[in-house]
Amino acid sequence: GFSYWRDLKLEVSNDVLIPRPETELIVDIVSRRFKNKEELISFVDLGTGSGAIGIALALANPKWNGIATDINKNALEIASKNYIKYSNKSNLKFINGNWWDPLKKFKGKIDLAVANPPYIPQDTYDELPIEVKNFEPRNALLGGEDGLDHIKEIIQNAPIYLKEKGYLLIENHFDQGSRVKKLFIENRFTNVM
Ligand code: GLN
Repeated sequence: GFSYWRDLKLEVSNDVLIPRPETELIVDIVSRRFKNKEELISFVDLGTGSGAIGIALALANPKWNGIATDINKNALEIASKNYIKYSNKSNLKFINGNWWDPLKKFKGKIDLAVANPPYIPQDTYDELPIEVKNFEPRNALLGGEDGLDHIKEIIQNAPIYLKEKGYLLIENHFDQGSRVKKLFIENRFTNVM
């Protein structure tokens, strides 16, 4: 029913992935890049699940404005509950829809997008332990045959929504690094790390 993640205690359910310690790194990487707290940043957390990444960014940067999206309405409900538990501000909004789809109004306006999309390849998913497979949503883990289906969709659409000098930060499986870098470069990104 709940999970500790960074300094947060987040409600979780069958509709959301239990936030993993490795995903805490996304927040650290963002704070290293955007050290100047006065910068007004528009960010999105795509496929927010429990809300973990979006909430941590919104709390650490009260002047930023964020939108968290998720395809699952039940997940969004949990995410917004988790946010309200920690914040009395309204710098994180929640919108239902698939990846970038619900953000049509924000084309070309986003400084930073973060995502921990499903990236587990089919054969790895089939072998996952029962305690993961039977208790966590398949659509939060499985990324298709090679695991890259959703990562690809997010990267390909990113240039439409990001500002010219915007950032996209994506978590991927341990062995997908070079393929994911290639996808970024093929989609007009520079400074790919
Ligand atoms: N790192 C997670 C796991 O090993 C997978 C998360 C994801 O697919 N985004 O279970």
